[in-house]
Amino acid sequence: MKENDTLSSQQNCSRWRFGSGEGAGKTGVYKDMRQKIGILGATGMVGQRFIQLLEHHPWFEVAWLAASDKSSGKRYGDVVKWKLDTALPDRIATMPVSPATPNDAPKVIFAALDADIARELEPAFAAAGCAVISNSSAFRMHEDVPLVIPEVNADHLPILENQSWRKESGGYIVTNPNCSAIGLVLVLKPLVERFGIDSIFVSTMQAVSGAGYPGVPSMDILGNVVPYVKNEEEKMEVETLRLLGVRDGEVVLPLAAKMTAHCNRVAVEDGHTESVSVKLSRKATREEILDAWREFTPLVGRDLPTAPAQPVEFTAIEDRPQPRLDKMRGGGMAATVGRLRPCGLLDWKFTVLSHNTIRGAAGAALLNAELLVSLGKLGAGKLETGKLDPVAVPA
Ligand code: NAP
Repeated sequence: MKENDTLSSQQNCSRWRFGSGEGAGKTGVYKDMRQKIGILGATGMVGQRFIQLLEHHPWFEVAWLAASDKSSGKRYGDVVKWKLDTALPDRIATMPVSPATPNDAPKVIFAALDADIARELEPAFAAAGCAVISNSSAFRMHEDVPLVIPEVNADHLPILENQSWRKESGGYIVTNPNCSAIGLVLVLKPLVERFGIDSIFVSTMQAVSGAGYPGVPSMDILGNVVPYVKNEEEKMEVETLRLLGVRDGEVVLPLAAKMTAHCNRVAVEDGHTESVSVKLSRKATREEILDAWREFTPLVGRDLPTAPAQPVEFTAIEDRPQPRLDKMRGGGMAATVGRLRPCGLLDWKFTVLSHNTIRGAAGAALLNAELLVSLGKLGAGKLETGKLDPVAVPA
């Protein structure tokens, strides 16, 4: 493989995104067909990303916003501390913030709640017949709740049919992983497929936006590194192995590899960087590894609007990837990998970067929802309660 660098990919997906580009013009074509969706936790860091990514989305239209009691009943624009670099859309600013109950909510809910609150609220929405596309860790490790990255383990989705909500009301919960696990898993999946993996070592440098707003106090993080992110190492370890595992009937068997994670918070606004070493089950050359990453395009042909053309982008530039320069590759949906070199302890080591609130949160949930649409499980009106067909993930 030629080790070329594809900087042009910064915009290689979703051209309607952020309110401009040719896709924006397509919105009118789809307008009447768009599925109405709601956002739980709409005022938070991830909730704001949902609003940004959904503006002009061809399949979904934001129709309902909810947050805590302190925001409920007020205009969204009056309560949100908008932190993104695109303008808050006027239509959204004037929308009311609803109470966080399923009464008048649409049947598709993007949830961006802290785990403790999600544990209480998400089941209420699923029980009311909603498809809950969740960002929180509350149900990620539940046996019948799919933890999904569409490019990696779409074939785990059928376990949602075992959820009691699904059987009773048609509703269900589907989750996306922790923001650090997602970039790592995208980069590891092609290696697992081609060579197998025996051991994984990862040390993270995680952005402050990963802690929500207002997050880590400036006095703690400026000019500093905090070598502790609560519960993050445990989540990275169990979620990575589950995502890379195989579905065996109604359960997911985690990948049988050894793994250790060190998680650190650094003074970066957006973008989680990770130093990774792996021991492969079968020896691989540098060229074979680069080929595995380059040829990893499992969603080709599905036409999912948020899917990046190249989910794993390799950079040959010696001091990349860097959060400031590379976090927006693939519209913020690609994992960038660089600095591939032999490891004196395991086999190979490299650096991974992914955008924590796009690929690691709102964009991940949006892609899960698009996959569910493509499977006919998120259609307008009442959700079907029939069995999910096994998902054929193209080789
Ligand atoms: P955040 O900025 O703290 O936002 C939390 C949201 O939840 C706000 O909209 C808040 O509304 C709402 N909320 C609080 N209490 C509530 C209640 N009792 N009922 C209803 N809504 C309530 O958090 P975040 O960073 O967006 O994270 C949201 C979830 O995504 C978390 O589970 C987090 O772990 C996960 N996640 C975050 C990232 C990231 O990079 N930030 C990445 C992956 C996953 P008010 O404004 O009214 O208080």
